[in-house]
Amino acid sequence: MAEQYQQFDILVIGGGMVGAAFTCACLGKGWRIALVETREPQRSWPPGEVDLRVSALNRASQRILERLRAWDRIAQLGASPYREMHVWDAVGGGSIHFDSAELGESDLGHIVENRVVQLALWERLEASPEVTLLCPAGLDDIELTADVALVDLKDGRRIAAHLLVGADGRDSRVRSRAGIATRGWLYDQQAIVANVRVQEWHRETAWQRFLPTGPLAFLPLVDGRCSIVWSVAESKAEELLALEEVDFRAQLQEAIDSRLGTIGEIGPRAAFGLRMQHAEQYVKHRLALIGDAAHAIHPLAGQGVNLGFLDAAALAAALVEAGDRSRDIGGLWTLRRYERARRGDNVLMLAAMDGFKRLFSNALAPLAAVRSAGLSTVDRLAPINPALAAE
Ligand SMILES: Cc1cc2nc3c(=O)[nH]c(=O)nc-3n(C[C@H](O)[C@H](O)[C@H](O)COP(=O)(O)OP(=O)(O)OC[C@H]3O[C@@H](n4cnc5c(N)ncnc54)[C@H](O)[C@@H]3O)c2cc1C
Repeated sequence: MAEQYQQFDILVIGGGMVGAAFTCACLGKGWRIALVETREPQRSWPPGEVDLRVSALNRASQRILERLRAWDRIAQLGASPYREMHVWDAVGGGSIHFDSAELGESDLGHIVENRVVQLALWERLEASPEVTLLCPAGLDDIELTADVALVDLKDGRRIAAHLLVGADGRDSRVRSRAGIATRGWLYDQQAIVANVRVQEWHRETAWQRFLPTGPLAFLPLVDGRCSIVWSVAESKAEELLALEEVDFRAQLQEAIDSRLGTIGEIGPRAAFGLRMQHAEQYVKHRLALIGDAAHAIHPLAGQGVNLGFLDAAALAAALVEAGDRSRDIGGLWTLRRYERARRGDNVLMLAAMDGFKRLFSNALAPLAAVRSAGLSTVDRLAPINPALAAE
């Protein structure tokens, strides 16, 4: 190996929630790991401030984060439990309700700021001598050879690793440089996010109303506010973002059908373009993609990072097994185990969310009747509820 290359067993590109979780999952296994991230994680913020980027983490994600010894720190920094979920259709009138008490659980999951999850994981990595954190640093190019992945960073540093992991989000440069194509489409929708005060107690319930224009979610925060995710057509999003607060409030209140009483103060608003995207391959010899680099999903059921954590856990498990059997951790045989474990589940979830999005975006009366009947039926099928709510 040429001397100018710094050598590692595993090189992770992207230290967001999924890349940082995967790196934590590789600790203590005897590997030398490097993590490259363009942006320093945010380390402090004014007390009581809640960021606009939050995720609904399900119990499976919580268990993964507990095993990574990051959950206690997340809870300390702030996690808002949701104990019930209420979903209803604006047109057909159908509804569905999940209650953690009926599942014998204390909650269904937690709403957590993305920066909180990332920081808790980074603090674990910073305390681990086997990890070299290269930040700020960005990927320039990669070359996959039979023995190693060779990586050039933008600042001229060069790294060789037995395995390169792309956790660099939905616009993954690792994926494009590896020549892996994606399938999918733009939704012509934006998700508007904001934190809003509501008159009535949110009852630690995640509320979601399906409107023909797109779904609107109110996610409960511990300070009594709700974090909203309002998916609308791009032109409508521009209009909503440009509105004075008083007018935005009126439209929001109508959209949520005044379910939580009068809407009060609204913080800053931001919007994110939505797309459905799936990598045609998750792995190549010496390369694996995880998280949004492998799949991007409509946020209507808040599944994106939950799927990403499952990817991280599955890839780490495949590597551990390979390590135990003295197999090559970057070999295709090892990596295909990971792909087999995750691709099918991810396809199902992507297809389900895409189907939901399309079904509920349609105001045609017959469709509205079918979907409302469907929602109400699922609500009556008690044994199905736990399965739907648990994942
Ligand atoms: C409005 C909205 C609401 C959502 N709500 C939920 C929810 O409730 N629940 C849920 O599970 N999911 C939710 N999601 C999805 C979730 O945010 C994503 O699935 C998740 O952020 C993906 O994490 P990731 O680490 O794979 O990618 P990212 O979060 O995109 O992280 C990628 C990281 O890689 C770094 N990076 C990028 N390029 C490079 C490079 N060239 N070199 C080095 N570093 C690089 C970036 O700086 C970043 O830190 C939501 C998404 C949206 C848009």
